[in-house]
Amino acid sequence: MRIGIVGGGIGGLSAAICLSRIGIEVEVFERASEIRESGAGVSLWPNATRVLAQMGLLQTCLLKSLPLSSLELVNLQRKSLLQIRIDQEETPVICMRRPELLAILHAQVSEQSICVAHNCTRITTAGAKVAVEFAAQDARTFDAVIGADGARSLVRSYVTGVTQEPVYRGYSIWRGVVECDLGDDSSNRIQEIWGSGRRFGILPIGKNALCWYATDTRGNTQENSADNRKLELLSLFTGWPSPIPEIIRATPPRDILKNGAADLGLRGPWFKHRVTIIGDAAHPLTPNVGQGCCLALEDSLVLSLALQKTGEVERAFQLFGQARRKRVAAIVRATRWIGSVGQSRSKAAVFIRDQLLPAFFPLVFELAVRPIHRYDATKPFS
Ligand SMILES: Cc1cc2nc3c(=O)[nH]c(=O)nc-3n(C[C@H](O)[C@H](O)[C@H](O)COP(=O)(O)OP(=O)(O)OC[C@H]3O[C@@H](n4cnc5c(N)ncnc54)[C@H](O)[C@@H]3O)c2cc1C
Repeated sequence: MRIGIVGGGIGGLSAAICLSRIGIEVEVFERASEIRESGAGVSLWPNATRVLAQMGLLQTCLLKSLPLSSLELVNLQRKSLLQIRIDQEETPVICMRRPELLAILHAQVSEQSICVAHNCTRITTAGAKVAVEFAAQDARTFDAVIGADGARSLVRSYVTGVTQEPVYRGYSIWRGVVECDLGDDSSNRIQEIWGSGRRFGILPIGKNALCWYATDTRGNTQENSADNRKLELLSLFTGWPSPIPEIIRATPPRDILKNGAADLGLRGPWFKHRVTIIGDAAHPLTPNVGQGCCLALEDSLVLSLALQKTGEVERAFQLFGQARRKRVAAIVRATRWIGSVGQSRSKAAVFIRDQLLPAFFPLVFELAVRPIHRYDATKPFS
């Protein structure tokens, strides 16, 4: 069986690895001129590190990261809103640089299977074959196609029959990675500080590097220059507790990324004929529980297991969608809820939030977030 994969990001490359390992011939088409990722960091929770362990790649990832042990959420007055252990699953929580994760995946895929500078422009099906058309190259034909082409997926438009853009959820997100020593106390703790309409998160990558993210409800959503992005951020977080202003100041402007928080809850099946979608193409998420990459890794493994179980493309794509839709819908809801509580802006809402959260957030975490981490993508049909 030959499968074409549109998109050479974390979803596309992990799918290529999982499918190759069950004997499927794959070809990955990436529109950029090389396989590359933005400089930001990515948190990988136990549900994702379990997939990396199954792929035999966890140890290599651990060379580029540090297992994290706790998550602490505080308000601007340093009142604790949540403090929870995150090191009790079989596989760890880690944070690493996205280019390093992509490079580890890339090294597992044979160079002959990757075609860069191939911008897919159309998908068509005829009988049991699917054709992938490109802007500047001849079309290629496969037994099936997987769209791993990100949040603005062209393959999704083919599958659903309409063009749907992710919906902006009302706040901007900045991300960066910086060389910086937080001291021993903080070197394996995720910290998030919640203010009014604004949050700042810090995730250690190793002893001397961290990944950070910032959100703001009032942030200008337009893309602006790297220098302006940094100035905007510094003005938004002036007066926030140390080390936040120091972290922003230490990050080179070109390493600061900015996006609008957006997601999409797809209605209807994730496949049409012999074409399916995975990763952000199927479920763009707001990053509030750090699950976008994690789900892309899960999707890849579950899809390969569905193909192995059924040996038949359409049945496998149907089984894959059935196994994934409920889980993904619950995560989209959880991320939206955490985003809206976290972005509370009025004084009254922030006051109520900060009074109530310490009492019920640990329970919400156990009931809504912990099950996300406990999911075992190595046994999706049991
Ligand atoms: C602010 C922010 C913070 C995040 N933090 C985390 C986190 O901590 N943990 C986590 O798990 N996730 C996180 N995510 C989510 C994560 O980045 C995505 O879910 C993940 O990158 C999805 O991978 P993907 O391969 O599906 O899509 P992408 O990474 O978008 O890759 C898609 C690829 O397809 C290519 N492509 C697109 N169109 C075409 C075409 N027509 N033809 C050929 N190629 C095409 C693109 O060039 C790209 O290389 C975050 C996201 C954001 C925005």
